[in-house]
Amino acid sequence: MPDVDAVDGDAQAPLPLDDFALTVVVPCLNEADNIHDTYREIAEALGDRVNLEILFVDDGSSDETLARIRSVADRDDRVSYLSLSRNFGIEAAFSAGYRYARYPWVLHLDADLQFPPAEAKQLIARAAEGYDAVFGIRVDRKDPWPRRAASLVHDWIARRLLGIEIPPKATTFRLVRTEIARRVVDLRLGTPYFLATLPRLTRAWTTVPTAHRPRAHGSSKVTVRGLAKHSLDLFFGFSPRPMAAAVWAGLAGLPVALAAGLTGSSALFGLALAAALLALALMGRALVHLSRGQTRPPLFLVREANVPVEAADLLEGSAARVGGGR
Ligand code: UDP
Ligand code: MG
Repeated sequence: MPDVDAVDGDAQAPLPLDDFALTVVVPCLNEADNIHDTYREIAEALGDRVNLEILFVDDGSSDETLARIRSVADRDDRVSYLSLSRNFGIEAAFSAGYRYARYPWVLHLDADLQFPPAEAKQLIARAAEGYDAVFGIRVDRKDPWPRRAASLVHDWIARRLLGIEIPPKATTFRLVRTEIARRVVDLRLGTPYFLATLPRLTRAWTTVPTAHRPRAHGSSKVTVRGLAKHSLDLFFGFSPRPMAAAVWAGLAGLPVALAAGLTGSSALFGLALAAALLALALMGRALVHLSRGQTRPPLFLVREANVPVEAADLLEGSAARVGGGR
């Protein structure tokens, strides 16, 4: 049983700050209005201090996002990009970025500038103490209250009820050793969930309070359905407890149903029915999780990039547009 109360793990030997060659991975879905500002803020905040690559991952945008990314890449050879062949979702988009990052550290930054790039220096300072991963936590979160409330419930279910080890309150604003981020991606879990997978590979992670801002332009790209699915992936993919609860609900329902049959009690029968339905629902969802672990469709496919991309990650026929321009 993991110690879910642990705030952080053991730091390893410290690293000099100069060693921070860094790839900033920016997943983008329809963020055309944010690309230039995001590029500029990252370059201003980090360009003079560290070796820098800014790797945009266009997650199948249907607006001008890719065109804007190409235009910054044309002007600055520190800018790389991958453009996925459709919208694969945020977990897949950043996974693509982690796999193709050039430098030994990846910094994850959203394209809407909710996490100020200048705050990355705090993450870098903590990582230099010898951590494999440093997660930003929002001290004053600037999202609508339903999102904040949903996050609290989600965290409580995951950490307390189901005993899943995830860094408390951690966000996608994180600095991770690229080798470890890649190991997480390469595990190809049926229900990928970066925050819950990383603590299974290393204890050397910690959290740092960071500033948070409202979205610069546009609206949130995540949907209620997408968030619910992601939460269920975590609950069923990283804890045996939902399946155990199904077994107990089924086992408890049987004698209750039997007693109801003997005594003719409709209240008891109702209880037994509820237990049986709960057992069915939990097992059904657990089966969805298991079946996803069996089929292995590609996590992402690249249609266009200006970095060399492995053949297995390419959409067939797209090779001509990949690998030039650096
Ligand atoms: N994003 C993505 N693919 C998706 C959804 C979102 O690449 O399917 C990107 C999005 O463009 C942004 C980041 O992921 O850069 C976080 O998304 P968003 O800001 O909409 O999430 P929120 O802050 O509302 O949780
Ligand atoms: Mg956002």
